[in-house]
Amino acid sequence: MSKKDYYEVLGVSKSASADEIKKAYRKMALKYHPDKNPGDKAAEESFKEAAEAYEVLSDANKKARYDQYGHAGMSGGGGFGGGGGFGGGMNMEDIFSQFGDIFGGHFGGGGGAQRQQLRGTNLRVRIKLNLEEMVNGTQKTIKVKKLKMAPGATSKTCPTCNGSGVQVKVMNTMFGQMQTQTHCGTCQGIGKVADKIPAGANAQGLIKEDEEVTINIPAGAREGIQLNVRGKGNDAPFGGNPGDLLVVVEEETDSKIKREGDNLHQELYISFAEAALGTQKEIPTVGGKVKIKIDAGTQSGKILRLSGKGLPSIDSYGKGDMFVHVNVWTPQHLSPEQKEFFENQIKNGEMMAEPSGKEKTFFDKVRDLFN
Ligand SMILES: [Zn+2]
Repeated sequence: MSKKDYYEVLGVSKSASADEIKKAYRKMALKYHPDKNPGDKAAEESFKEAAEAYEVLSDANKKARYDQYGHAGMSGGGGFGGGGGFGGGMNMEDIFSQFGDIFGGHFGGGGGAQRQQLRGTNLRVRIKLNLEEMVNGTQKTIKVKKLKMAPGATSKTCPTCNGSGVQVKVMNTMFGQMQTQTHCGTCQGIGKVADKIPAGANAQGLIKEDEEVTINIPAGAREGIQLNVRGKGNDAPFGGNPGDLLVVVEEETDSKIKREGDNLHQELYISFAEAALGTQKEIPTVGGKVKIKIDAGTQSGKILRLSGKGLPSIDSYGKGDMFVHVNVWTPQHLSPEQKEFFENQIKNGEMMAEPSGKEKTFFDKVRDLFN
């Protein structure tokens, strides 16, 4: 496979100076930069090709080898001392980490470290809500422990980096000397360090304190969603913007009403007499209590469906249903009179189970739930 000549790739002559090569590469890199050509595979290839050419031609040793042996000299094999990293092409990350500085401030993804923004860290709390609160929305005031700037804490310019937040290191690599920028180790990139720290505060002059925060929960919250309360997180050291308070919603599980998708379920217990005679019952729903009618002769295990009494659907305008699972409670403590009454019923063959064969089985009921 024939490879394009590196000089051709950069559009320079073999006698081009190091400066001309650098300028040519910069021009190519800016022209084919992925930020300027999003999704353009050909541009990306040209961008990589140019980086590969520049990697070789910007290095005196590699350039001499290339001038003498051409691409064959770049394969890393025989006698030239392992030059991994080229020939096989470079990936984007390599290019940005090695040549990022050449792009100047034009693009993201490039150059090394910058001064860290003074922003406090985010705080995460969990909040338990019952179904009604989740559906209708609510307001909760909770206490959070957060880092606040301690009164009397002062700062001064970091002596290590003189406030830039950046440390420049010169490293000797196989490609020659390279400058890398890292966050200043003394100030963690902030550019300031503590001057006076009051007792109890940490090295950045922050102290843990309780604060009450009122959180508005919008209607339609769901288990697991995260609400972002701006600026209610930890303070930034030395006067930056505070972080955010991230509130993760948890569903109270001890509620009588259980949720299954948009549908709700609850168990209802009625007495044997109520089942026999029929009755009315008040049951809780997320929209408040509603009355439901229990027909005379209702069997245990019957499931009543209250259409539209479930949760508002998240991805459509519909609403789920409420399913009421009716359980007939068998008396467990009988008085002597009650005991005699039931004994007589059995003796006389009264109140016997008389299934007609048309009763819904467990499987029928489960199937009904999905129709
Ligand atoms: Zn510093």
